[in-house]
Amino acid sequence: MSRRFRIFSFGVLLSVFSAPFVLAADELNSAREISDGVYSFTLGEGNHSMFVVGEDGVAVFETFHSGHAQKLSEAVEGVTDKPIRYAFISHNHWDHASGGQVFSGAGAQTVMHRRAADWLDANPGRDSALPDITWSGDHKIFDMGDFTVRLHYLGLNHGMGLTIFTIPERRVAYIADLVTPNRVMFSVVPDFNIGEWERSLGEILEMDFDVAVCSHNELPLDEAMTGCTRTHVEEERQFIRDLRNAILAEFEKGTGFMDIPKAVRLPQYSHWVGYEEWLEMNTLRLMTDLWMGPFPWVPDAR
Ligand SMILES: [Zn+2]
Repeated sequence: MSRRFRIFSFGVLLSVFSAPFVLAADELNSAREISDGVYSFTLGEGNHSMFVVGEDGVAVFETFHSGHAQKLSEAVEGVTDKPIRYAFISHNHWDHASGGQVFSGAGAQTVMHRRAADWLDANPGRDSALPDITWSGDHKIFDMGDFTVRLHYLGLNHGMGLTIFTIPERRVAYIADLVTPNRVMFSVVPDFNIGEWERSLGEILEMDFDVAVCSHNELPLDEAMTGCTRTHVEEERQFIRDLRNAILAEFEKGTGFMDIPKAVRLPQYSHWVGYEEWLEMNTLRLMTDLWMGPFPWVPDAR
């Protein structure tokens, strides 16, 4: 297990299972301009936010948890004295949708898709709060004066109400959980409908942006802070396809069900973070999906 991978795993575990935290290595707290007035932000523990500065105010993307949200708010103040007007939250999961109260308490409004808000209402996290604004349907536009925030709900893919954000005037996007550069799928691929995920990646490739901030990014930190690109979206989709084809080939060969996770190897991805630790978990998850049918699934998701 590489050192970076251990740090990543630790960060994920902390953000999922413990109270909000701030990494001791505070010097990693850092914003990086990736497009005109658009900044990526991370504390270096695996979570990446974005903020966009305009003439009338600031839009921030992804609060994660109170500790992160507080540092994100300070990073905005370090760049501009314009007020934060909105904090957009991508989806329902506690490890992304917590900490919004930091922005609500400071006069901004938090925004989430209705499906994500309904889930959080039924399943509150220790550090989560219901949003100030909910929206429903497939598309919505927030007018920020000299830029617009386009909200895209693509139907089922991961979690509830997962929203992709684009700011066409600045050629940027914010993509949570659906694209993680330089990493295999997350452990047992929790709460992903893999076929719908693949479809959604195709829809993201149709969107209007050159660079994005991906909520998790396993490229070297300095590179990760410059964001992710359409190439990473394509690579994520190709990984899904390659893994599925490798599993189907083992089905075809008649390999025993429990032997398949060890039989599937994708050496072209062996340099990706999590390859040794998670590929078998990824395989087990996708093969059950291919055997039993896709899950999770809900009617009228779109
Ligand atoms: Zn998630």
